[in-house]
Amino acid sequence: MTFDYDLFVIGGGSGGVRAARVAAATGAKVALAEEYRMGGTCVIRGCVPKKLMVYASSYPDIFDDARQYGWDVQHGDFNWGNFRTRLHAELDRLEEVYRNLLNGSDVEIFDGRAIMDDPHTVRINDKTVTAKHVLIATGGHPVRPDMPNADLGIVSNDIFLMEKMPKSVLIIGGGYIACEFACILHGLGVEVTQYYRGAQILRGFDDEARGLLADSMIQRGINLHVGTNIVEMAPASEDHTGAQPTNSDAAMGAPAQDIASNPKSDTAKTAKEPIWVKATNGTEKVFDHVLFATGRSPNTDGIGLEEAGVKLGRRGEVAVDDYSQTSVPSIYAIGDVTNRVQLTPVAIREGMAFVETVFKGNPTKPDHDLIPSAVFTQPELGTVGLTEEEAREQEPIEVYCTSFRPMQQAFAGKSERVLMKLVVAKESRKILGCHIVADHAGEMIQMVGIAVKMGATKEDFDRTVAVHPTMAEEIVTMKEPMRSA
Ligand code: FAD
Repeated sequence: MTFDYDLFVIGGGSGGVRAARVAAATGAKVALAEEYRMGGTCVIRGCVPKKLMVYASSYPDIFDDARQYGWDVQHGDFNWGNFRTRLHAELDRLEEVYRNLLNGSDVEIFDGRAIMDDPHTVRINDKTVTAKHVLIATGGHPVRPDMPNADLGIVSNDIFLMEKMPKSVLIIGGGYIACEFACILHGLGVEVTQYYRGAQILRGFDDEARGLLADSMIQRGINLHVGTNIVEMAPASEDHTGAQPTNSDAAMGAPAQDIASNPKSDTAKTAKEPIWVKATNGTEKVFDHVLFATGRSPNTDGIGLEEAGVKLGRRGEVAVDDYSQTSVPSIYAIGDVTNRVQLTPVAIREGMAFVETVFKGNPTKPDHDLIPSAVFTQPELGTVGLTEEEAREQEPIEVYCTSFRPMQQAFAGKSERVLMKLVVAKESRKILGCHIVADHAGEMIQMVGIAVKMGATKEDFDRTVAVHPTMAEEIVTMKEPMRSA
């Protein structure tokens, strides 16, 4: 049987674009469909715009510190309109870069939503094509909780499109996206309240790191309430006896400029006016925005997957084997849609392993072990390997840990502390986990990640000479274990 293409990729995000390009480089005939903007979540409404906002939000600290270091500088005001224009110009540029990369690799682009008709047939608008292999790389989308008026709230997609910087925002959620936006918006001058129903933010990360980060966020002025959830929300203009207005701006505009044309926005009736909220702790308040950072769902609805015979998991994710193959032999899936590890570099690795397996005759499993990652809060959290809690369950361990005021901040009169922590296997002496809470922890953990991936022991760290004076030198100078378990 002959096909129009050797590979048809559905989704032009991190994983799909990389897989398409690498497959085309093997000489395969490849096409890719994208229904929204090339680059996907990471480039258009994830890692990239978020990190640019992290940079923007860090300037108040820099101005404050500069004065302590002898500079005569004033804060001035943050101009969201100017920043947003530059932000979107950059996203447009990056989208073009992705498009050019695909064109330059001879990947045929279809701008439209792709739907599967059978295991080898894909429909895009009114065109039908066939492919020997189909790669599902459709990513995921943010979800709101199932409660009345939830559609008054915004989701992470909408943040980058806000017309005005709100004065007050309530963030619901305790995951990394919730915490990052809490710090970003706080840094940009927004009064931030964060409710998380669990006992501590950042579930799944090392407990000590979570605790220090939560303390830092509170100390910086974020109104973080754990063990707290939203129970009711409504337009503030409706009568709610007992509501205490916060710093809300009734003249605030609707956040989304092109939400209607944004197929994954979910924003049906985003609030044009402040929102009244009642919490489980009994408080009633009014906020300019409520941001739901309550999780993401795989994009598997209405694209013909189940009709083509593809089995989905309990959360609607595409179920795959170790080689990213679905229950239908011609169909593979990578990235967020498979709900394995939802990070851009992981989606890319899964895409490349797929090409090795299917187009280079070299069966390759994507390696999900010891993935370093960062939470871009202020300060940042960098992590690789097991948490202390996970390691304790696995084997006897030693914990090396130090918490101190770094030189740069101490000189500026700040009390914020950093944390450096190594979790070490008692018997093999291998570093099982490393957790850093500090400015630039994301940069540091990338380097530590190499050593940990190579199987470095505590003694390898010990015999590495410190770089002085740095914060990171503490990672090689911790002599005595803080505790054993
Ligand atoms: P995506 O990048 O989501 O791409 C999927 C694409 O498929 C989308 O463009 C979508 O429009 C398209 N599509 C869907 N259905 C169809 C269809 N039927 N037909 C055609 N096209 C379709 N990761 C990190 O590593 N570091 C970070 O700092 C980080 N920050 C993040 C911040 C936020 C706010 C968010 C939301 C995510 C962040 N992530 C981060 C996660 C990262 O963005 C994702 O893991 C990554 O983008 C997943 O890539 P993907 O290829 O699986 O899917």
